[in-house]
Amino acid sequence: MKSARTQVPSTRATSCIFFTGPLTGVDLPSTTKFQLATKSPETRGYLCSNCSGNFGPQLKKAGFDALIVEGRADVWTWLVIQDGRVEFRSAEGMLGMMTNAAQDAMKDELGDKKFAAMSIGPAGEKLVRLAYINVDERAFGRGGGGAVMGSKKLKGIAVKGSGTIPVADAARVREIWTDAVKNLKETRANHTKYGTAQYISPINELGCMPTRNFQTTHFEHGDKVDHLVLHDHFRAKNYACFHCSVACGIVAEVKEGPFKGARARTEFENIGLLGPNCGISDFAAIVAANQLCDDLGIDTISGANAVSLVMELYGRGLITDKDTKGIKADFGSPQALIGIIELIGKREGIGDLLAEGMLGVIEKHPEWAAYICHVKGMPYAAYDPRGFYGNALT
Ligand code: SF4
Repeated sequence: MKSARTQVPSTRATSCIFFTGPLTGVDLPSTTKFQLATKSPETRGYLCSNCSGNFGPQLKKAGFDALIVEGRADVWTWLVIQDGRVEFRSAEGMLGMMTNAAQDAMKDELGDKKFAAMSIGPAGEKLVRLAYINVDERAFGRGGGGAVMGSKKLKGIAVKGSGTIPVADAARVREIWTDAVKNLKETRANHTKYGTAQYISPINELGCMPTRNFQTTHFEHGDKVDHLVLHDHFRAKNYACFHCSVACGIVAEVKEGPFKGARARTEFENIGLLGPNCGISDFAAIVAANQLCDDLGIDTISGANAVSLVMELYGRGLITDKDTKGIKADFGSPQALIGIIELIGKREGIGDLLAEGMLGVIEKHPEWAAYICHVKGMPYAAYDPRGFYGNALT
């Protein structure tokens, strides 16, 4: 059998296609979405991922419907796109930078904070198959898009446009926008107040919360990681995508304790998988782990699944401290949660194997397949398939 490490996540032949839709950037609510299509290093199949933020609208305003990146740069590179022009710049000085730091560096070099930006972190540079692309605090998360950019030596892209997107009937569009904003204010108030964390309690009560690597489906400490904990003790501010009046992104900040200063946009999936599925009831640790994934450029869902797998293998005695570089990888241990994510980002110890994705782990250790929850190499999201049947298929 061919070992996982001998297969490069992406080749010169793999295109990385970012494309907008007809409504992206139009003056209507939440016209923020754009897509990534490429070959997935994680599943090794087709990858289509969508993302919010400000990048898609800016790309459109800069005069482009899509951006197709082909081939591979000789040196680490970043792109500047502005009003019909594309410029290649050296990213050699950005190597090793965390995702947000790289975006700040691009904007600093441009002397303009109004650029939208995307970037990969150290995980993408190291071709970790779980690497995501950070886009203005949003993400092309699943499937390893960050490793595709890494394989092209593309550290990031910044874009700004001054154009307008024409519509056939501007007055009617304005009318629709006004009605929609009013409707969203009434119907999505809880989304604004609590974000997607509001789903933690109902999913847990339904018995669909993945717990301790999907061994059970109800977390006994659900009330320590729910939307009220986020809202009452950690909420720092809301985050809104382009033209969105809902602003469902809630930035959490740890104000005291060993993780003081940690800051991340904690969503339902991140909380569920970094929390209950790793046996973690310490919300501050979840925020810190979320930030570490974001900074290193590791998708939180896939990264958390890798951590919970290690915890189960460790508990069953199938791996030891030698594999984990001394980390006591017990369920519920914040130190283990943080430590294993670091191993993946650095490709050290068992982290090097986990960086090959679930298919890579199974290729090396087929006897572990019974403990790995995935569909065609894509780890499960935080809706247990025993309740959400469709999640067992996609
Ligand atoms: S802020 Fe939330 S609701 Fe608004 S566009 Fe972004 S993801 Fe959607």
